[in-house]
Amino acid sequence: MSKRVLITGAAGFLGSHLCDRFVKDGFHVIGMDNLITGRLSNIEHLFPKENFEFYHQDVSKFIHVPGELDYILHFASPASPIDYLKIPIQTLKVGSLGIHNCLGLARVKNARVLIASTSEVYGDPEVHPQTEDYWGNVNPIGPRGVYDEAKRFQEAMTMAYHTYHGLETRIVRIFNTYGPRMRLNDGRVLPAFIGQALRGEDLTVFGDGSQTRSFCYVDDLVEGIVRLLHSEYTAPINIGNPDEISIGDFAEEIIKLTGTTQKVVYKDLPINDPKQRQPDISKAKELLNWTPKYQRSEGLKITYDYFKQLSEEELFHKDH
Ligand code: NAD
Ligand code: UDP
Repeated sequence: MSKRVLITGAAGFLGSHLCDRFVKDGFHVIGMDNLITGRLSNIEHLFPKENFEFYHQDVSKFIHVPGELDYILHFASPASPIDYLKIPIQTLKVGSLGIHNCLGLARVKNARVLIASTSEVYGDPEVHPQTEDYWGNVNPIGPRGVYDEAKRFQEAMTMAYHTYHGLETRIVRIFNTYGPRMRLNDGRVLPAFIGQALRGEDLTVFGDGSQTRSFCYVDDLVEGIVRLLHSEYTAPINIGNPDEISIGDFAEEIIKLTGTTQKVVYKDLPINDPKQRQPDISKAKELLNWTPKYQRSEGLKITYDYFKQLSEEELFHKDH
């Protein structure tokens, strides 16, 4: 009998790649999503597969899944700043009520739970690079607080179920990840820059562009998650690519990659925008024998090829 896994946020960017991986690996995959920021087109290629089912459901409401479950991967949550600023209450609810429902379901099914946490639990970090034992610098009532605190609560709730109920849990702190199926207009920097280049618009760098991020290609992240799920490690673990770059330099890389003749224009830096971010991945290396394999140039080329084949309608449609 194949193992059964529930993946929440299945129709989103990361959730859909996880569905692909677990379907390919022979699991029976139950994808769940309310499509608030996700799209069925990300997973419709899986509908004909016998080992895939889809439940259109809000995880923040009571969830019922018939049959046994071996694993629950909780990835449902708006993830880009413009999304969670638009739907702040739903973001807080999916990180609190949503994880509570998943953990309750896991107890009933005796399933192992892995949750998608984030580098945002470190906020605007005063420790660089960020190690897992850094407690973070988050403004709970700032605009990003709805996401950061939901994720911090989610970690606390997950650890409580582990400690007090003996539930098998895993926590991955994901750093900026990119790849095909990101939404062109989700506001994150990579689709923003590539979308602007493809539409013949100037690239909008926020602030002076000196803030840094470290971008991980999606296949590397998925491999790290699979290894973590099957490991015995229960404390939070960073998964990301430590290759750090300033946003200004990143804009120049995209200009080169796309061959656009547009220029960079500078806009106001959003409030509480972290100044630097780079994962310390010593733990993932040591405990999971994991390191990212994709160079940024390689991952960016694959991602650019994905965005290039989108239709004009998709490219110019604001909500895509
Ligand atoms: P995404 O917006 O593409 O995917 C999230 C999915 O969750 C969407 O399909 C959305 O419809 C669904 N969803 C949201 N609320 C829901 C609810 N109440 N019930 C059911 N489904 C719901 O975002 P993503 O980039 O794929 O992120 C997935 C997860 O990974 C999130 O939990 C996010 O916080 C985490 N994460 C992502 C990154 C990254 O760089 N992409 C970094 C850190 C953490
Ligand atoms: N950013 C930018 N121009 C854009 C979109 C984002 O300069 O059009 C900046 C943003 O201010 C941040 C960085 O790029 O400093 C990464 O932003 P993103 O939303 O992708 O991720 P996060 O801030 O959540 O790490």
